[in-house]
Parts: sequence; structure tokens; C-alpha cells
Amino acid sequence: MSGEAHYLYAPPPDPRDDQRTLPAKCQDLIIGSGPSASVIAAYLAKAGRNVVLLEEGPARDNSHYKDHLAPDTFARMYQTNGGFPIMGGPGTPPIVLQLGRCKGGGTVVNGAVCYRTDPEVVDEWRDELHLEHLAREIWDGFARAEKRIGVTSMGELHSLSALKVREGAKKLGWDYHDVHRNTPGCRGTSRCISGCVSNAKQSMLITYLKDAEEHGAVCYTDTRVTKIEGTFGKVRSVRGMRAGKTFHLQAERIFCAGGGVMTPFLMLKSGIKHLRAIGRHLTIHPSTRAYYVFDEVVNASQGAFQSFAVHEFRDEGIHIISLFPPPGAFAASLPAIGPELRTLLQTLPHIGIMGGLISDESEGRVIALPIFDAPIVRYTMQPVDKRKMLRCIRLLGELGFAAGAREVYLPFNWRPAVHDMHELEHQLSEKISPHDFEITAQHPLGTCRMGYDEDLSVVREDGRVHGYENLYVIDSSVIPTSIGVNPMLTVLAVAEVIGASLT
Ligand SMILES: Cc1cc2nc3c(=O)[nH]c(=O)nc-3n(C[C@H](O)[C@H](O)[C@H](O)COP(=O)(O)OP(=O)(O)OC[C@H]3O[C@@H](n4cnc5c(N)ncnc54)[C@H](O)[C@@H]3O)c2cc1C
Ligand code: SF4
Repeated sequence: MSGEAHYLYAPPPDPRDDQRTLPAKCQDLIIGSGPSASVIAAYLAKAGRNVVLLEEGPARDNSHYKDHLAPDTFARMYQTNGGFPIMGGPGTPPIVLQLGRCKGGGTVVNGAVCYRTDPEVVDEWRDELHLEHLAREIWDGFARAEKRIGVTSMGELHSLSALKVREGAKKLGWDYHDVHRNTPGCRGTSRCISGCVSNAKQSMLITYLKDAEEHGAVCYTDTRVTKIEGTFGKVRSVRGMRAGKTFHLQAERIFCAGGGVMTPFLMLKSGIKHLRAIGRHLTIHPSTRAYYVFDEVVNASQGAFQSFAVHEFRDEGIHIISLFPPPGAFAASLPAIGPELRTLLQTLPHIGIMGGLISDESEGRVIALPIFDAPIVRYTMQPVDKRKMLRCIRLLGELGFAAGAREVYLPFNWRPAVHDMHELEHQLSEKISPHDFEITAQHPLGTCRMGYDEDLSVVREDGRVHGYENLYVIDSSVIPTSIGVNPMLTVLAVAEVIGASLT
């Protein structure tokens, strides 16, 4: 157990840490408290099971976020201070992965955009992976999840910037739509990624996890599980760290819901390695952005964090969506220093942003090394995805000019703004080092895929790990392929299907 105390990315103890005493045993133990964990906890608690959730991150609610500066949020409520580094293979841009790490998981700090997975993708799961039950039940799962988290259209909450870009999409004849989010009563403060002060965002704290707690489930925070124990085929307990001390907790069933990176890492660290697919087949939806500078004031931060999207290129695996982070976080990301940064900051009210993500065909891997107490994430972007990314960047530029932007900053470090399509094409034709691409990702999927072929998958349709009678994986790592849209609603719907099959 010596490694746990030195977990590389653990923030220092905080007086607000959970001080309650852990029980010695429970019936159902859930590791994590994000959307998947919360849905399953609600099902199990309502069925009368004695449910305990163990969450590595802190419990924070809207009374805390209002005093939060963005850096404080990133340090406490995200893994690794907000940016988990991916180790890229040859020619792969540096990619920073963002993962929620708090009670409620990603749903507390995410953009709240809600999409169903396309029927064509679900059909592929049915036809190629034989997930017939999931393919049939997921549509009811989506409907139940949408109802519980209050999914509504953002049509009324566009910033001026989003409205201008929407006009640009119209001019180009592109198919676009107002996005749906789980934020009824949103006030358009654009602060979603550091927690919603007004509780408009229906995170797990005020939906499924609350339901579970009202039915007796208990969520202990600031509690990191470091090992799942048992024999092959049957698990019996977990060990971990809490307030600097080790703990041990027995359970009849264990449900892993630490997300697409931390779940395979925990399994591999626990010696659960009998399936080749554990940690493999990682897809991440690489994302990028373009900054648009307008002559007019567009006040992009006065509107929903994300409100409008371009559907036109979904067949190509490209999804384009408006966004605007809290100004503090945005200022830190501007592509300039010194006087140029000062000038750009003065033009902040004139700046809008569009983001783009691609449905990736590349696959990465989560690795656990014996001597290193943190996951290593490897991901090599294949040429097909690089081409898709460049096409996405070109489309983002084209959209900016159609919207009337005076200049557009493409996501390349140290490259000047471009002022028209001619300059844009020229910049894209230059040799740009992979290291100069600005790419992030927030959607790790697939590292414990659902399926029946034990060489290619990890869990069955009820979430149970192949070869185990009481170990389950229920989170985003079971989503078998890249889905090309933001995955929270799919994570919820899959958990709905698993939850219904368990009770
Ligand atoms: C900044 C950001 C923006 C996003 N925006 C959107 C969006 O707009 N729309 C959308 O659909 N999706 C979005 N996502 C993605 C979405 O939030 C995730 O896909 C979803 O939350 C994944 O759910 P999950 O249950 O798999 O795990 P998570 O939500 O990642 O939760 C896992 C939890 O487990 C905890 N944990 C991990 N390991 C351990 C351990 N060993 N012991 C104890 N606890 C542990 C973690 O601290 C974390 O709280 C966004 C994500 C981020 C980070
Ligand atoms: S835009 Fe503001 S009010 Fe709306 S959900 Fe996000 S943080 Fe909450």
C-alpha cells in the first residue's frame, strides 16, 4: 500500500474534506459519483440495496462556486489541475484531456450539452457487437434521462456572437440547430465549466445522485479507491486512501464508475488484466477551436456557455458548436503574450469562439505501470483523423468570415490572425508542426468496451466484467465506439439500461 500516499496528482488536504467515518461493509459499492454512478446508485437504492459511493474528489455545490476563481476550480474539481497530459505517438499534437473530479463527476463542470447518439451508430453496435438489448432499450433510456435532467433547447440564450455565427451558417447554407442542454432556467452566465452558481445546470448533485441519497445511498467524498481485491471471478473489497490514511471496505458487488481513464487504470492496478481490451480502444473526440474578432461588440460571455451547433458535417465526423469559457480561463488561452496579449484582452468584448470536435478513428490506450501511481494515456492520431481535424479547422475559419469576423485566429500556436479565406488557405498550406496544434479532449470512451467477444470487449450488456460474478463497469469506458457527439446523455442512457437490468 506504500504507493497510495504519493498519488502523483492528489491535491493537498483541505479543511472542507469529508470527515465522516466509513462503514466496514456494504451491499453495493460504487467507485465514483459521476452520471453513470449516480444513475446506478438511484436504481439500487430505490430497490432497497445498501449503497455506498466512494468519490475521490470533493463535495462542492453552488454555495462554493460563487467564490471560486477558475484556477481554484481547476485545481480542486478536475483531475490533475484541469489538464491530464496525453502522451502522443509520432506526429501527434500534444493533447490535454479534461476530466471532472468531484461529487457529481463531469456533470458539475461540463458544458451540459445533450445529444442522443445517432441511430446509425447504435445500429452498428447491434450489428457488429451484438448489443441487441442495448440497441433496443437505449431509446427509452435516453427519454428517461432527458426527463430527469431537464433537457431543454437553448434557443433563447444565444450571445450576440452566437447569433452572428448562426447568421454566417445560414449564409453558407449549412444545416444548423440550437443545442439542447440540461439547464432549464439558465441565466446565460457562461460559467458552466467552473460550476453553475444558479443551479440551473441539472448536475447529478441535484438529480440522480440526490434521488439515490434520498433512498439511503451514502456518498463519501475525498476518498480514493486504490485497489479492488478478491480472487479471479469474485471481488470482495476495496482499499484506498482517505484523509491521508488507508481504508478497507467490503462489498457484495463492486461497480466501477471512475470514467474512461481512471476505471481501466484502477482495474489494471488491481491486477485485473485477464482481458486484453482493458485500457485499449480509447477514443477521445479531439476538439479544437477558432477565435473570431468582430468590429462590433459581441459579448460572447453573455449567453449560454454553448447554444448553437452546425450539423452539416456530421457524416464526415465533424461537429461544430459555439462555446465561451469563463473570461479568466479564456484569457489564459489567448494565443499571444506581452503587448499583443494586452491588445487582445482589450478586444475581449469583440471576440467570439467556435469549437469543433471530430469522431476519431484512432485508438489510444490507458496503461498502468507497476512503479508509477498515475495512469499513462497513449494516443497516436492517425492520418485520417489529422485530415479530419484540418478540415474541421478550415470550416471553423470559413464560418468565422461568413459571420463577419474581421480576423480569425486558427488553433495554431504562434501563428498570426488571418483576415480572409486567401490568408486562411495559405496558413493551412504551410508546414505546421504537430506541436503547434491546440487540441483538447473531454470525452474518453471505450476503454472497457461492452460486447460479447472476450478478445475485444470487457463487459456484457448488464455491465458485468467477463469472467466475474460481482464486478461491474458502468461508466463512459463501456461506450464501445466514438460517437461523434458529446457523450453525457449516452452515458446516462446506457446506465439507465444497465440499472433497469439489475433491479
Ligand atoms: C470540461 C468538460 C466539459 C464537458 N462538456 C460536456 C458536454 O457539454 N456535454 C456532454 O455530453 N459531455 C460533456 N463532457 C463529458 C461528460 O461530462 C462525461 O462524458 C461524463 O461525465 C462521463 O461520466 P462518467 O460517469 O463516465 O465519469 P465522470 O463524470 O468522469 O466521473 C467519474 C468520477 O469518478 C471519480 N473517480 C475516478 N477514479 C476514482 C477512484 N479511484 N476512487 C474514487 N473516485 C474516483 C472521479 O473523481 C470522478 O468524479 C464534458 C467533460 C468535461 C470535463
Ligand atoms: S450558462 Fe451560467 S446559468 Fe447557464 S447553466 Fe451555465 S453556469 Fe449555469
